[in-house]
Amino acid sequence: MNIIIFGPPGAGKGTQAKYLVEKLNNFQVSTGDMLRDEIKKDTEIGKKIINNMNEGKYVEDEIVNKLLEKIIFDPNKKNKLIFDGYPRTIDQAKNLENLLKNSDQKLDYIFFLNTNKDAIVKRIEKRKILEKRSDDDTKTILKRYDIYKEKTKPVLDFYSSKKEFHEIDGSLNIDQITNKIDEILKV
Ligand code: AMP
Repeated sequence: MNIIIFGPPGAGKGTQAKYLVEKLNNFQVSTGDMLRDEIKKDTEIGKKIINNMNEGKYVEDEIVNKLLEKIIFDPNKKNKLIFDGYPRTIDQAKNLENLLKNSDQKLDYIFFLNTNKDAIVKRIEKRKILEKRSDDDTKTILKRYDIYKEKTKPVLDFYSSKKEFHEIDGSLNIDQITNKIDEILKV
């Protein structure tokens, strides 16, 4: 089963993705984690993206799309993908469609965690203390939210009419969101 967890920064995508990975014995595809790892290892990609990441801006589609390719074509991960933080632009959504088609896969569920700005700011400020992420200060949070609205809204429009699309109230607590996901999955 391939699933996208979609929503603004701080909506709880990572938490629910981890839950689904455990439950379904799948793999989490977090482009944020992959990009942070490139920075940690100080790779060529890491050097290129560090400024954008720290400022809360999106990393170029070309770089993110490339990172994804290997995972999609990994036979061990086929039909076992939980996307968290990808796609974030229309170009990425179209790229994902092509990659899935070319690897004989499809999307089974798209969960949209719909969360408002106030809830997000509160949550990310809490996460900053817990995870010490350099892109979690209030100014950057607001910028990330604005970029999400501008760049990622079209992706929402792209998915929302599909039968695999399910909207969930992202202001609910973690367990309530998990329950909603379970009800929809019925597994
Ligand atoms: P996340 O961990 O998903 O909140 O992502 C943290 C940061 O990584 C974002 O603010 C972007 O700078 C970058 N990033 C993660 N995923 C993507 C993506 N799909 N496209 C572009 N930039 C991304």
